[in-house]
Amino acid sequence: MVQVSEVKDAGAGKQGSTRTAAHTHIKGLGLDAQGVAKAVEGGFVGQVEAREACGVVVDLIKVKKMSGKAILLAGGPSTGKTALALAISQELGPKVPFCPVVGSELYSVEVKKTEALMENFRRAIGLRIKETKEVYEGEVTELAPQAAENPLGGYGKTIAHVIVGLKSAKGTKTLRLDPTVYESIEREKVSVGDVVYIEANTGAVKRVGRSDAYATEFDLEAEEYVPLPKGEVHKKKEIVQDVTLHDLDVANARPQGGQDVVSMMGQLLKPKKTEITEKLRHEVNRVVAKYIDQGVAELIPGVLFIDEVNMLDIEIFTYLNRALESSIAPVVVLASNRGLTTVRGTDDIVSPHGIPPDLVDRLLIVRTLPYSRDEIRTIIERRATVENLKIDADALDLLANMGSQTSLRYSLQLLSPCGILAKTAGRSDITLDDVNEAKLLFLDAKRSTQILQSSNSYL
Ligand code: ATP
Repeated sequence: MVQVSEVKDAGAGKQGSTRTAAHTHIKGLGLDAQGVAKAVEGGFVGQVEAREACGVVVDLIKVKKMSGKAILLAGGPSTGKTALALAISQELGPKVPFCPVVGSELYSVEVKKTEALMENFRRAIGLRIKETKEVYEGEVTELAPQAAENPLGGYGKTIAHVIVGLKSAKGTKTLRLDPTVYESIEREKVSVGDVVYIEANTGAVKRVGRSDAYATEFDLEAEEYVPLPKGEVHKKKEIVQDVTLHDLDVANARPQGGQDVVSMMGQLLKPKKTEITEKLRHEVNRVVAKYIDQGVAELIPGVLFIDEVNMLDIEIFTYLNRALESSIAPVVVLASNRGLTTVRGTDDIVSPHGIPPDLVDRLLIVRTLPYSRDEIRTIIERRATVENLKIDADALDLLANMGSQTSLRYSLQLLSPCGILAKTAGRSDITLDDVNEAKLLFLDAKRSTQILQSSNSYL
């Protein structure tokens, strides 16, 4: 029932990737072999003590001493809490899931809050599936769906089988594929000249890229050109797939339906969010456990980052406490910029960061400190490089000053608009004028509140 090979298209993880876009310059904690943070390393600037503390956390996770515990990053806005949590996941290894959520997101009309938390837990748990499969790999030289004779005559022919010609450096082969694989040929938009591999036992077709024999001067950039496979058309290949448990839940909750037009239309009309039940998750877990036992799959616990943890209520905290005990929990990193607050959903429990005392007891707390103006300047400079933006020294100075007066995030957010303003003015460098203009166009939080407070017309 579990269709591991289908999940690549599940669309999951998109939330994570848009969320992490602001952190593409972060490449780990930037610590040396002794766990000491260099001032500027791994995309990180400053925040040395917090980075070193997170390095210790990574070591604890690796020796499995974090189970049942969680981490709390406590510090003001834009002091790098999200960046640190992301860096922890990066330090744990390649393709370790990172799932960032904000406390308030767990509340919605459609999904129960504990259900939403569970979904994010499962987004943060990866499964690496390694399979040695027999595959046919080569350049497509022929692609011919063969129509079946329609016994009733008339229109509406169906496909009986698909003939695929494949060529590699050492030989050629003609394959006859089952009509059901035609869907994967269409989905992958396979055409003659593409390099593909076809799984021997399922017939699933995967497009690798376009054969370099077809590369032309004009479209070299648009396509990924790959050399003709060197070996035989038919070979054994290790295929590694990284998915999350949530991907598997989604793939299995989606009604598979038939391939005919009517049932395909039916699937289009169905709401996107299909029900993932407790029963289904159990079933997925059972199959996953079997794969792990067989040595086919490996569990990769990732990082679940919950920002604005004071937004969680007592019910979610209770659930979180229990989930932390589970044998397949991800590393949970909470973040807060609050001090003592009443725990939501209670009248009188006042606790640090609005976290109930029993959870506070399980926390390793790491503090993040405000940045100096120079640190802000360096962070903005790094970010500009990553965004391919050139910036004049005095423009950078102004952004740094603004960052230390308002927030780092505000200055970072102005970078892209500044880039556009510079481009519109026909310049390749961001100048002081661009920053001043962007500052007028976009307000920081402090100024916008002041305007609202001073003007009754807004109220
Ligand atoms: P909030 O509590 O408001 O959500 P935060 O503490 O999670 O903020 P981040 O989102 O991590 O802050 O930081 C804001 C931006 O600054 C991000 O683009 C982040 O990558 C970058 N940043 C923060 N700290 C550093 C640092 N020490 N070095 C480099 N970049 C940083």
